[in-house]
Amino acid sequence: MDNHLEEITAKIREQGYRMTPQRMAILKVLIGNPNHPTVEQIHSEVKKDFPMTSLATTYKIVHLLKEMGEILEIDRGNDKAHYDGLTSDPHPHLICTRCHSIVDIDVPSLEGLPQDVIQNFGYQFVSYQFDFLGVCPKCQDHE
Ligand SMILES: [Zn+2]
Repeated sequence: MDNHLEEITAKIREQGYRMTPQRMAILKVLIGNPNHPTVEQIHSEVKKDFPMTSLATTYKIVHLLKEMGEILEIDRGNDKAHYDGLTSDPHPHLICTRCHSIVDIDVPSLEGLPQDVIQNFGYQFVSYQFDFLGVCPKCQDHE
């Protein structure tokens, strides 16, 4: 088991949760996952090994991780929320409007922008979402 997963497991125990095999499986599917899954996608993955896992249990663990600041929620408003298990730091995403794939992108020129904007309007920084919508190369090929 890798360190990050171990750390998170310890923190969850500190919150008074028992680490059941199901909860562990949910963590394993989400933490370090670059594919930004939804709760439903995590659930169907976990069910392959633990068919008894409920969607409610999956939702609870995902919500807990979000509250703990261990994962990033990508809320598109119109769509189900996706979760980034790699990092909880806000970062820009490229989102395909056809296949709904989400990729992390590195745009150095954007780095200071969110803080600048928030300061200019006197907000206290909580988080930001920077999402670029379009049609990914794969979906363009299928046209
Ligand atoms: Zn991401």
